[in-house]
Amino acid sequence: MARFKRILLKLSGESLMGNQGFGIDPDRLSDYAKQIKEVHEMGVQIGIVIGGGNIFRGLSGSQKGFDRVKGDQMGMCATVINSLALSSALGALGVKTKVLTAIRMEPIGEFYNKWKAIESMEAGYVCIFSAGTGSPYFTTDTGSSLRGIEIEADVMLKGTRVDGIYTADPEKDPTATKFTDITYDEIYTRGLKVMDLTATTMCKENNLPIYVFNMDIFGNLKKVMEGEEIGTLVHN
Ligand code: UDP
Repeated sequence: MARFKRILLKLSGESLMGNQGFGIDPDRLSDYAKQIKEVHEMGVQIGIVIGGGNIFRGLSGSQKGFDRVKGDQMGMCATVINSLALSSALGALGVKTKVLTAIRMEPIGEFYNKWKAIESMEAGYVCIFSAGTGSPYFTTDTGSSLRGIEIEADVMLKGTRVDGIYTADPEKDPTATKFTDITYDEIYTRGLKVMDLTATTMCKENNLPIYVFNMDIFGNLKKVMEGEEIGTLVHN
């Protein structure tokens, strides 16, 4: 029996590049797809948001002279590329998906709406929500808070390359300790960088818990769904 009935899984674009330093690592992509298939087979309804940082980020683009809004639009297109790649990898494993886009771009994906998403998940499709919020100056963390709240997910699962939230950066500070759970307020007061503040505040105000865990270890997504305490839960 899965711990959650409906999840919003947030994957970073950056982790898709694996050890390549840029673009999409086919091994990492297939590893993610296999993990998603495992929990799909448990009967879990799955919505996914994937970032675009492995291809383009608007803010860093603007520091190199790109117009910020156009740069953000490029970043949103990057999330569509990653979403199509994940959809393709899941399709190769026999998992049905729908890529929904926050900006109209048929036939690449269907234009997002909440009810279409819920109906599709209930019918067994994995829904991949691409193009973030559709607006510049936001991030895919905010996009996943928004979609998670809209689709009434039980939790946002934030797959990262660390196994949870620590008192300090464990890669820099050997005395850092990990939280099993933490409140949103404590994230603010300790100045912890879990997600950007807009995304965190949306989750807090709408009571969407976040579970941070290491998705780069194969099998971890299933472990989370089976109730193993391998990450950090953020709650009110
Ligand atoms: N982006 C945006 N609006 C959104 C979501 C994303 O403008 O609602 C742009 C923004 O430029 C961002 C880029 O898309 O830098 C890639 O998304 P993100 O940085 O969140 O990806 P990640 O860092 O998770 O790979």
